Amino acid sequence: MGRNAEIIAVGTELLLGQIANTNAKWISEQLALHGINVYYHGVVGDNLTRVKDMFDNAGERSDVVIITGGLGPTDDDLTREAFQLLSGLNMEEHKLSMDNIEAFFAKHKSTMTPNNRKQARVFEGAHIITNKVGMAPGMILHYNDTTWVFLPGVPREMKPMVVEEVLPFLSREQYQNTIIKSYVLRFIGIGESKLEHELKELIDQQNNPTIAPLAQNDGVVIRLTAKAATEGDVIQLLEQTKAQVLAKVGDYYFGMNDETLESSLLKRLLEKNHQITSAESLTGGKFIEKIISSPGASRVCKGSVVCYDQSVKRNVLNIPDELLINHGTVSEECALAMSKNVAELLNSSIGISFTGIAGPDPVEGKPVGTVYISIYMKDGKHFVEKYEFMGNRDGIRHRAVIKGFEILLNLLK
Ligand code: ATP
Ligand code: MG
Repeated sequence: MGRNAEIIAVGTELLLGQIANTNAKWISEQLALHGINVYYHGVVGDNLTRVKDMFDNAGERSDVVIITGGLGPTDDDLTREAFQLLSGLNMEEHKLSMDNIEAFFAKHKSTMTPNNRKQARVFEGAHIITNKVGMAPGMILHYNDTTWVFLPGVPREMKPMVVEEVLPFLSREQYQNTIIKSYVLRFIGIGESKLEHELKELIDQQNNPTIAPLAQNDGVVIRLTAKAATEGDVIQLLEQTKAQVLAKVGDYYFGMNDETLESSLLKRLLEKNHQITSAESLTGGKFIEKIISSPGASRVCKGSVVCYDQSVKRNVLNIPDELLINHGTVSEECALAMSKNVAELLNSSIGISFTGIAGPDPVEGKPVGTVYISIYMKDGKHFVEKYEFMGNRDGIRHRAVIKGFEILLNLLK
């Protein structure tokens, strides 16, 4: 959750151009490095009303207001007085700071004038930042939903306070009240670049949640990461963006977070009361292995026939000789027969078959990568598709299996 900071420098010298506002420049750089946005820089002279008005405006519009200068002992150092006028907060003398100021004078062998006590005055309840280099301490306090940081104007006093106390404090505050949560949306049947193209507008406009597409072994995922103050707000942001994403590419969506191709397929098979079985030639049982790796597979999975050699297709799956001779094992006809016969043989409502050429050499005059996948559904559909997959032997076998999941997931939507 972004917090907006504002930096105010107090001092007439700055307005007169006698010194440059290097404090604001330096603090801005530090805040940027810590992911805190700075929306305003202000400079105001040593005038009580104007300083108070400046603070008033800043408190209205900024989550963090950092003020430098005007904490010293003289009458023109008005920062405390102006903030007290605005807030009505009580002030008290800070013992440690007073000790520090007295020690400072002792060390420099000079007498302390009474007005120096003023520098040890702090707001009640403020977090005090010790001044290790000079006298006036810094302060951090909360007032009216804004974090106020008071720092001395002298750069060599101010800088160590910022580095050692203010930045760690603001970082803690920035993240303490923030809940960060991610959704991983999973897609199959669409490439990473197409997905990114479809979502380009959304990705460009959006920063909470952020939207990041990533290619994975089993398809493509989109990671949505949102930040908000409460769990409910984070979920709402994530749900909104998920709906926007699915409105564009929902056709390819199959599951979220821990869901996998196999768990999603299992769920859909269960819902529709199907049983599945496979006849696998080039995939060698990889498809059924993936299903069985998912807990609960026993409720939907009957088994499989790994029919790598022609004799197994013939003798176990009862593929007729003449079909094998006329069309070959890598053919529509063979794939169709494999899916139907395995479903009937193993008494399942769905049979899926894989037959093809994983390489390295062509078979039956067909090129490496040619794969037929067929689905037989007892209560209706029976079809086959031909694919040309790229890659080496493992890659082709893997792609065939993933495609099988894609077809079934779409079929069971
Ligand atoms: P002091 O106790 O010295 O009075 P202070 O907190 O009251 O410190 P100022 O009186 O406003 O601060 O400024 C003291 C000195 O710090 C200035 O003379 C100047 O040298 C330096 N200084 C103050 N403000 C800035 C600024 N915004 N950028 C750079 N230098 C600054
Ligand atoms: Mg001063």
